[in-house]
Amino acid sequence: MSIFKELGLSEAIVSSLTELGYENPTPIQEISIPQILNSKDDLKAFAQTGTGKTAAFSLPIMEQLDLKSKDPQAIILSPTRELAIQIARNIEEFSKNISNLNVVAVYGGANIEDQIRGIKRGAQIIVGTPGRTVDLIKRKRLNLRNIQWLVLDEADEMLNMGFKDELDQILETTPNTKQTLLFSATFPKEVEAIAKNYMNNTVEISAGKKNIGAENVSHEYYLVSDRNRYPALKRIADINPDIYSIVFCRTRRETKDIADKLIADGYNADALHGDLSQAQRDMVMQKFRSKTLQILVATDVAARGLDVTDLTHVINYKLPDQPENYTHRSGRTGRAGKNGISVALITNREKGKLRPIEKKINKQFEQKQVPNGKEICEKQLYSLIDKVHDIDINEKEIKDYLPSIYQKLDGFDREELIKRFVSLEFNQFLSYYENSHDLNGDDSREKRRSTDEAFTRFYINLGKMDHINPAKLMGIINENLRKNDIEIGQIEILKSFSFFEIDKNFRDEVLEKFNGVEFGGRKIIVEVTNKPKTKGRSRSKRRNFEGGDRFRGNKERNGSGNRDRRSSGSGGDGKRRDSGRRQRR
Ligand code: AMP
Repeated sequence: MSIFKELGLSEAIVSSLTELGYENPTPIQEISIPQILNSKDDLKAFAQTGTGKTAAFSLPIMEQLDLKSKDPQAIILSPTRELAIQIARNIEEFSKNISNLNVVAVYGGANIEDQIRGIKRGAQIIVGTPGRTVDLIKRKRLNLRNIQWLVLDEADEMLNMGFKDELDQILETTPNTKQTLLFSATFPKEVEAIAKNYMNNTVEISAGKKNIGAENVSHEYYLVSDRNRYPALKRIADINPDIYSIVFCRTRRETKDIADKLIADGYNADALHGDLSQAQRDMVMQKFRSKTLQILVATDVAARGLDVTDLTHVINYKLPDQPENYTHRSGRTGRAGKNGISVALITNREKGKLRPIEKKINKQFEQKQVPNGKEICEKQLYSLIDKVHDIDINEKEIKDYLPSIYQKLDGFDREELIKRFVSLEFNQFLSYYENSHDLNGDDSREKRRSTDEAFTRFYINLGKMDHINPAKLMGIINENLRKNDIEIGQIEILKSFSFFEIDKNFRDEVLEKFNGVEFGGRKIIVEVTNKPKTKGRSRSKRRNFEGGDRFRGNKERNGSGNRDRRSSGSGGDGKRRDSGRRQRR
């Protein structure tokens, strides 16, 4: 008998799982399915992305729905639209063999009327992002007063993204009799507070191992200067000809820049970030899933809903501020029993970020050397030979051309022919890496000092108490300056106030534009303040955006086909390369 059946699932569900290729339950499914089927107690589950948590909470709910009623019986809240869509899609797949089971996904950035129609038609399960869910409740288009299950998926992410108020509002409208299922990869105090305030008789479960993927992931770092970060990224891609990777950046702008550079340098790459339209996002994700793209450059948030299981590498182009986000990122490789590598490109200044992450993942980073040109050429050469060895020959198609080809190559012996074919592909790699230099080590302190001087630091009387986070603060800055591309430097959020840096050329404009502005009925005060001396910059206080990343306001993107194709033009690693990494078809 199928183990899923033994867990208490009916034939209709088990058969769809079999069709999907789910042979055995994952550890979190094994624990949570019987728990939710057999108990009304609330549940706190420690589960990362990639552990099979969607099935872990949705299958037992599906099993217990009253299919005679079309009213919402379960609400699943997820941090992003992509994840919401993916969960709804999974539920549709799981319920393929059950008639009358309907699910509707509701999320921002899409036509609300269509979603209202979906709810009206009847759906027992609603999957929603917090903002859109609140909106629908306020419009009285979504009634959660009779729901029996509430799932908080990736609760830590929802709170990280500043959805606390929305969660509070939604939770207030749900009945006390419901069963709450909270799934989270981490349990910081904000998540614990939600559990404490809204959950009763809570059973805690975890899938045994902290992250079932983590076992198979090795963690590596490369020490480079900021200016060598990009060339180092390319070398890592070049030494791994079959790389299939997400490169994580911290801002939309950086994401777009790196993707543009990679594309211009001939890599199968594209960007995924919040400035893309939904259609553009879907297209990029589809290309990545089908492996038409080898490298996806993404922000944490944009990559959330991307369900890809066999990445070879996760590359942290810049490390995230929160160690939890690193675990989210690295957990995207090493899944389904495969090995994965999580790479961090770090400068001297960012070295301090490794320890807290090591503590979190309970593993050590291994320092690696950025490969040199010779090593890369060697790897590429053997990869080329392997491809020649393994290529399928289409006898039928080439047969007509062969006689004249044989004639043209008449006179070359076997060795000579091999040398010529190899050189054809390989010479460009050799010449590209001919004068390449060593990228290891970071000597960029001088450069950083000069960029620090390009910014003015401001004090603002809004802080964590006002539910400000870096993203919100950037939004407030952009909104009030009404300019799209002013460079924003470091942001530091403290309890009741914050600091931010802005391109020093806009010093007076910032002061002027914030004059008389209110936030939540309170007058905003913005003042120029002294920069802390480099030595005195306390690491703990510079939690947010530590590492000197620079931000700009949101800039509209023209669409993925309309790119600014530039060459990075820096020595041996900046040249345009036409061969070696051909666009896959
Ligand atoms: P999730 O953590 O729900 O995002 O699931 C991660 C990936 O694992 C998805 O691609 C699921 O389709 C897949 N998956 C979930 N449960 C199983 C299972 N029991 N067997 C095989 N694949 C699974």
